Amino acid sequence: MIPSPAEYLLRCDDLCPTMSVERWRRVESLIEEFHLQPILAVIPDNRDPELEASPPDPKFFERMRRLEGSGAIIGLHGYRHLCESRCRSLVGLARTSEFAGVPAETQREWIHEGLRILRGQGLNPKIWVAPRHGFDRRTLDALCAEGITLLSDGFARVPFRRGGLTWIPQQL
Ligand SMILES: [Zn+2]
Repeated sequence: MIPSPAEYLLRCDDLCPTMSVERWRRVESLIEEFHLQPILAVIPDNRDPELEASPPDPKFFERMRRLEGSGAIIGLHGYRHLCESRCRSLVGLARTSEFAGVPAETQREWIHEGLRILRGQGLNPKIWVAPRHGFDRRTLDALCAEGITLLSDGFARVPFRRGGLTWIPQQL
């Protein structure tokens, strides 16, 4: 038997109205040229100065809606992308995180508000993408409570279930 070729999901992180216009143009033209259906990890209310690379794009959400309409999956990429917590994450790759170690109630508020912002822009966020891989058990509970049961993180060869969510693993 001939093994079927590997298939990969493409994920674009850190999407927000002030991301680098030049970088995004190149990515967007590849998505369109090859009819890719990536995971677009959008920050609902970016406050991270490192992601203020270009003046705010007034058409940002329109672009995201158009790509979602052509098959892209919208990811909830944290809330404000401020990684001010220093706690261990379930996926230990970075030292600081927006969510890991933050009280459950705050995490619930942030996730609820983030989803509200994206939905208010006409997007349908379906999958959680944590900034810097930072999240904990409380994040998973908050996501389940909000009806988000997909997560993009962890290292494995095939998707698996943990903490009530289906994890879509990634490769570095
Ligand atoms: Zn990020």
